[in-house]
Amino acid sequence: MDSQRTPDPVGANPVTSRTTVSGQAGAVLPSLRFDIVTLFPEIFSGYLTQSLLAKAIDKGLVEIHVHNLRDWSVDQKHHKVDDRPYGGGPGMLICVEPVIRCVEAVIAMDSRPASVVLLTPQGEQLGQQRVEKLAPLGRLILLCGRYEGFDHRVIELLNPLELSIGDFVLNGGEVAAMVVVDSTIRMIPGVLGDEQSSWDDSFSRGNRLLEFPQYTRPVEFRGLKVPEVLTSGDHGRIAQWRAEQSQMRTRERRKDLLGSQPSETD
Ligand code: SAM
Repeated sequence: MDSQRTPDPVGANPVTSRTTVSGQAGAVLPSLRFDIVTLFPEIFSGYLTQSLLAKAIDKGLVEIHVHNLRDWSVDQKHHKVDDRPYGGGPGMLICVEPVIRCVEAVIAMDSRPASVVLLTPQGEQLGQQRVEKLAPLGRLILLCGRYEGFDHRVIELLNPLELSIGDFVLNGGEVAAMVVVDSTIRMIPGVLGDEQSSWDDSFSRGNRLLEFPQYTRPVEFRGLKVPEVLTSGDHGRIAQWRAEQSQMRTRERRKDLLGSQPSETD
């Protein structure tokens, strides 16, 4: 690695490595470390300084380390990491050697075991249940592709979890990596203002259905009134109304979810 180049170019290392932090009540909360490997680290700088993620980083609940793959290029002069595909065809591929060198170096940066996730349109489609399984892993290395993607030997050697964010093709894995980070940090206790959200939200652990409609002030706008039950103060009726609305909305929009109610082991 060229020592002149600075890893973590967006300066996103707010805390040193640690596996736990103490919450306000003295409870030990799990933290989640992400190592993002990309050719375009600057893409993450705005994202990391905003909203819930910035607060989670400040509280020490989440660590994000962004690594420029070019730092592990074998080409000392131009820091090239891509080459033409054998057999011909359009575009360039990310070479296997810098990726393996990079991942091995990044793994060694922290004693926590790391799970490697490779962003690709050919992977398992990310869903809430996968998000819930990622959060407790403690440490995720996210590999963002560019160009035509990675030399296949990256997959053979690292055996990563291959994740897609949908059946469409992005220019690079960075936006997909942000989707993984954004959805996963919501599962870390202390990140959301109210933990109940991560149970009640659509697709989530509460009932795996779409969420019920919500309203806030004013109570009437352009003739549209908030349903009376929501202003009644009767929590039993409110809960029942919400459960019915959630069922109805799911039946109308996403019938496929109705067979996926949570089981006791879910
Ligand atoms: N040639 C590849 C193929 O057909 O499967 C697509 C390469 S794409 C232009 C470049 C990179 O964007 C990929 O290596 C991957 O990291 C990322 N990417 C594109 N679409 C994605 C998706 N739907 N989900 C996750 N990552 C995606």
